Amino acid sequence: MPELPEVETVANGVNARVRGLRIVQVWTSGKPQTFKSPETEIAAALTGAKIESVRRVGKTIVMTVLRDKQQTEFLIHLGMTGRLLVCTPEMPVAPHTHAVLTLDDAREVRFVDPRRFGRLSIHHPENDRASTPTSQNRDVGHPDRTHDRHAGYAGPGREPLTISLEDFVALFRGRKTPIKAALLNQSLLHGVGNIYADEALFRAGIRPTRQAARLTHDELKKLRAALVAVLKQAIKLGGSSVSDYVDADGVRGFFQLRHKVYQRTGEPCRVCGTPIKRIELAGRGTHFCPKCQR
Ligand SMILES: [Zn+2]
Repeated sequence: MPELPEVETVANGVNARVRGLRIVQVWTSGKPQTFKSPETEIAAALTGAKIESVRRVGKTIVMTVLRDKQQTEFLIHLGMTGRLLVCTPEMPVAPHTHAVLTLDDAREVRFVDPRRFGRLSIHHPENDRASTPTSQNRDVGHPDRTHDRHAGYAGPGREPLTISLEDFVALFRGRKTPIKAALLNQSLLHGVGNIYADEALFRAGIRPTRQAARLTHDELKKLRAALVAVLKQAIKLGGSSVSDYVDADGVRGFFQLRHKVYQRTGEPCRVCGTPIKRIELAGRGTHFCPKCQR
């Protein structure tokens, strides 16, 4: 499952390659599951539109297109195995290709997804403005949070790269779950999965089993800094390729070479040499150094 850095890498890669181009043709596979909006609606919304930008919001890739001064958003959720590729027309179309957007320079944006957990849909931002922002979607645990304009598809979680220290600390107040589980909770922070939770906790020197509510202000400060640093480094290195994740050009990321604990069970800690331990926590394999993390 791609986490925040992988989704951001793909969004940035596609943005750099297709921004400003026009979509001249849309093909979809007709396969069930993939299309959250009717395929005819997707084709109608995108054909003839100009791509303004492609960016990450939460774990969703948002392609904003413009036609007749009207903005429409094409939402791409990669799911487990989804890939968004920018291809030249002579490149063979991969099996499990579910959508092809042909651009006015003849290149193609292709969505490939063997397991079909990915989702494609059309979102009309003006509908958000039409419906008044009431309190119906507020997270009751955090009445102080300012409502995200994109909460509809970003999910209720906060953005880990930009959340303030104060808000970050507030997320864990009263949480009796282990800190690792709280980090994975997508309604608190979005885009942080197993790899980056383990890596951030190692860098902050915090044991994954610690109760979230019991972490000191100083520890949470360290954790936030570690999380931001890990995510940013991973984005710089093009994400982590641990299963079949590849970026917009189909190139694998390199952050997995920097992993300090994730999937290094039994190997020596890079700081102290103690063998890295693996336990099950919140149903996920969890990796930590028993000496460096307290
Ligand atoms: Zn260690």
